[in-house]
Amino acid sequence: MTKQYDVITLFPEMFDAIADSGVTRRALDEKVWALKCWNPRDFATDKYRTIDDRPFGGGPGMVMKAEPLNAAINAAIQRQQDLQLANFGNTAKVVYLTPQAKPITDAGIRQLAAEPGLIFLCGRYEGIDERLIEARVDLEISIGDYVLSGGELAAMVLIDAMVRLLPGVLNTAESATEDSFSPARNHLLDHSHYTRPEVWNNAAVPTELMSGNHAEIAKWRRKLALTRTLKRRPDLLDVTKLSKEDLKLLQEIQQKQK
Ligand code: SAM
Repeated sequence: MTKQYDVITLFPEMFDAIADSGVTRRALDEKVWALKCWNPRDFATDKYRTIDDRPFGGGPGMVMKAEPLNAAINAAIQRQQDLQLANFGNTAKVVYLTPQAKPITDAGIRQLAAEPGLIFLCGRYEGIDERLIEARVDLEISIGDYVLSGGELAAMVLIDAMVRLLPGVLNTAESATEDSFSPARNHLLDHSHYTRPEVWNNAAVPTELMSGNHAEIAKWRRKLALTRTLKRRPDLLDVTKLSKEDLKLLQEIQQKQK
């Protein structure tokens, strides 16, 4: 079933970036996912189509008004319901992109990707009237501890990361199970990659990769993935989940480091 992603955004044209290029475009063409953008400006009722106003209490910047966003969310929910995505009475979750949530991880992306449909709410300016967030938002997600100008790039990051995990999107050569953080790889980082020429900038490709011995190459890659993870992201290493072979490799690596 096609995943349905609705996005509430003042800048729908930004989403051409994922609709028109690469893996996400191919998956969109193949109806693995569908995108519908809603501009809150189209739901503003005054003649200036106002979607923002000054903050109560003063201070710099503008705040997005609750009502146009509320109406846009209603339209998105209606669309999802019309597509019969409503599961036992549950409608698609409304996700607010915000720097104030816990940054999302690979596990979070996999959970989101399992949802049949999602509605992304992109803030701008100083953010959104808190009452709208309290009344309509199911989930708050950040893509990292830094502040973007708007939620659009964050929504696109989530959509890209989810879509590439969906069945049939990546071919075997690109398989997401080989990537960093994959549960199929025990959440390790990926090994390094090399291509022609064999020598570049006085650096040769590691001899192990040139041996033609597939078992040796697989072992070397595994060892490299473990070494990198140990060095760069030891927090990802869960020794209780490693296979016997990996544990042995890890011991070899740690022995060498002493
Ligand atoms: N005043 C807000 C604060 O300090 O928390 C920042 C507002 S920011 C300029 C405008 C919008 O960008 C936010 O409403 C949110 O939708 C989005 N945004 C900014 N940083 C983000 C992040 N790290 N992850 C997800 N969304 C983000």
